[in-house]
Amino acid sequence: MTDDLREKIFGGLFGCAVGDALGVTFEGMDGDESRIPAMSGGGQFNLRKGDVSDDTLMMLALGETYCETGEFCRDVFLRKVILTLREDDTTFGRTTKTTAMLLEQGCLPERVVSLVHTIFGSRTNGSVMRTIPVGLVPLAEREETARQISAFTHYDKDAGECCAVITKAAAGLAAGKTKAEVLDEIPPAFFTGNPVPSVDAVDAVKCALMCFRDGSDYADVIRRVCVLGGDTDTIGCIAGGLAGILWGVPQKWVDELRVKDRILRVAEGLAAAGEKSMPIYTKKEI
Ligand SMILES: [Mg+2]
Repeated sequence: MTDDLREKIFGGLFGCAVGDALGVTFEGMDGDESRIPAMSGGGQFNLRKGDVSDDTLMMLALGETYCETGEFCRDVFLRKVILTLREDDTTFGRTTKTTAMLLEQGCLPERVVSLVHTIFGSRTNGSVMRTIPVGLVPLAEREETARQISAFTHYDKDAGECCAVITKAAAGLAAGKTKAEVLDEIPPAFFTGNPVPSVDAVDAVKCALMCFRDGSDYADVIRRVCVLGGDTDTIGCIAGGLAGILWGVPQKWVDELRVKDRILRVAEGLAAAGEKSMPIYTKKEI
């Protein structure tokens, strides 16, 4: 484990959380060019300054699952989802809420995800918001693992593909690839059309990737997310995760997070896992 990789793991997790906490203020609003992100809470759930929403809570649940079990164990993760929602489900979306409710009633996970998909469709961004940790630990079949983890709650194949794309980008940045190299590996379809900042997985990932592509540093990426409006917290979490790995996150915002200590513990755990076998990218391997 190099200090550099360790820093990138911390940047990825804090990047997600800060992007979520900054974006949540503008969630559901129309676009506005004049927006400057600031840690101020509020938003449609009237959160406190420094609070995070479902995006960070799910990302941490997945990260903690790995720290505790050494893998992304579905049953452990789903148990954490249930416990998280029992504590406070205010900021969660319909797919995850319904899934947790049916799981609590004892339904089998496979049945639950296909049932929720049949009733509502499941091409929502709830599985993409948590996927960054999958890009930060040693994994042989990373993209396939990301698709499988998406399917813990989201049956939709496009949602799974979005997770694979973001996870691969996170892993590339963590291994030292440049932004240009990472963007080059993303299917061009994710950069077509105008950004639509909705809760749809593909729409949200397109917005996150465009903001990441066009941003000049972490703060500028999140500013671009907030300017778009819509699902700013989730798009901020996804784009912020990538930006945080590449550039790190301004310490002022890290210190303002109420979940800072919990994130530090998860980052330590993921970094410890990475000590074993995280492949380090070198130019020679291109
Ligand atoms: Mg949220």
